[in-house]
Amino acid sequence: MRVVLLGPPGAGKGTQASRLVVVVGVPHVSTGDMVREEIKAQTELGEAIKEYSDKGVLIPDEIIIRLLAKRLRKSDCQKGFILDGFPRTIQQAEALDGISKIDLAINLDVPDEIIIQRLSNRLTCRKCGAIYNRLTMKPRRTNICDKCDGELYQREDDKPEVIQKRLNVYRKNTEPLVEYYRRRSLLKDVHCDDLMTPPEVTFERIKSITESARKEKEHT
Ligand code: ADP
Repeated sequence: MRVVLLGPPGAGKGTQASRLVVVVGVPHVSTGDMVREEIKAQTELGEAIKEYSDKGVLIPDEIIIRLLAKRLRKSDCQKGFILDGFPRTIQQAEALDGISKIDLAINLDVPDEIIIQRLSNRLTCRKCGAIYNRLTMKPRRTNICDKCDGELYQREDDKPEVIQKRLNVYRKNTEPLVEYYRRRSLLKDVHCDDLMTPPEVTFERIKSITESARKEKEHT
């Protein structure tokens, strides 16, 4: 299965993708995580893209497309992948079509007010990248990761002044992709307009959509 997850920053793409991996048995490919790894490793590429990422603006298409194409060529992606954070522009979607056929695009439809509440309360593990939320997904111990004991921190781009900018970038550049995939009959919407809806409830919908698409794929 080749799945694309669409939705604004903070819609829960990362959280849901890591659950979906278990059901579908294909890797979770997050360009945001890849970007943060490059920055952390202080590679030449990392130095070049840090400024974009910290400001919450998109990295130029040619850079991110190259990075993604390299990742999808690895053997673990042969049977498929769950893409989180890519594509983010029409140009990226077209490049992806040139690399691989997509079976399903899931649109996590979440209003701005909820995104702002969520992101300003999001905590990320410095060591393993696990995601928590001070309101809805609290870690067992304050600021310590349940999974690896790493320190939890607030991402530079989860600071309030950057959140609105990222949302604007999403609505302008990435939201048109919802129609791009709808026109190709690949899109399924998952609406989430309640801040306190637990991620498990949203996941049940995502899981059932994915399982139906998988059955359909097997029959064609
Ligand atoms: P978010 O939580 O906003 O969805 P991500 O963790 O996916 O953010 O990505 C963090 C940053 O990495 C983005 O703000 C952007 O600068 C960069 N980035 C990630 N994926 C892409 C992409 N497909 N195109 C351009 N920039 C990207």
